[in-house]
Amino acid sequence: MNIDELISAALRVLENASVPLSRFRVGAAVLTANGKIFEGCNTESLIPVLGVCAERNAINHALIHGESRFIAVAVVSDLHLPLLPCGTCLQYMQEFARQEDRDILIIAEGRSGDRIVTSLDELFKGGFPPETSVKDIQESFRWTPE
Ligand SMILES: [Zn+2]
Repeated sequence: MNIDELISAALRVLENASVPLSRFRVGAAVLTANGKIFEGCNTESLIPVLGVCAERNAINHALIHGESRFIAVAVVSDLHLPLLPCGTCLQYMQEFARQEDRDILIIAEGRSGDRIVTSLDELFKGGFPPETSVKDIQESFRWTPE
């Protein structure tokens, strides 16, 4: 795997970030098990909760093309220091990683050129455990008055 190539792909789409509110741009690129790279940038809405992180947009970009086995995710931003994925994105990644019981390499690079190379397992210790089924989750949200 060429990490520089993945970072370059993330940097190219950072320019396309749609961020009228924050002006804070993030680019991401995912490498799939088939060796393909899919990019994503962050997108914002005037309704803040409708915004989507670059990492999840990159994953969704891959899903649109039928790719759901992820090897690595690269993240770049306007920050001087490397920016790691947020908890929401880590949860999202975990849902794909656990399907194959595989870790995902995570690479973050800042404008300074500083790079953090870590992994999903290293960053995300929580979330629904791997053996959780959709039925378990549905039942956990069912509220019963006492
Ligand atoms: Zn995120």
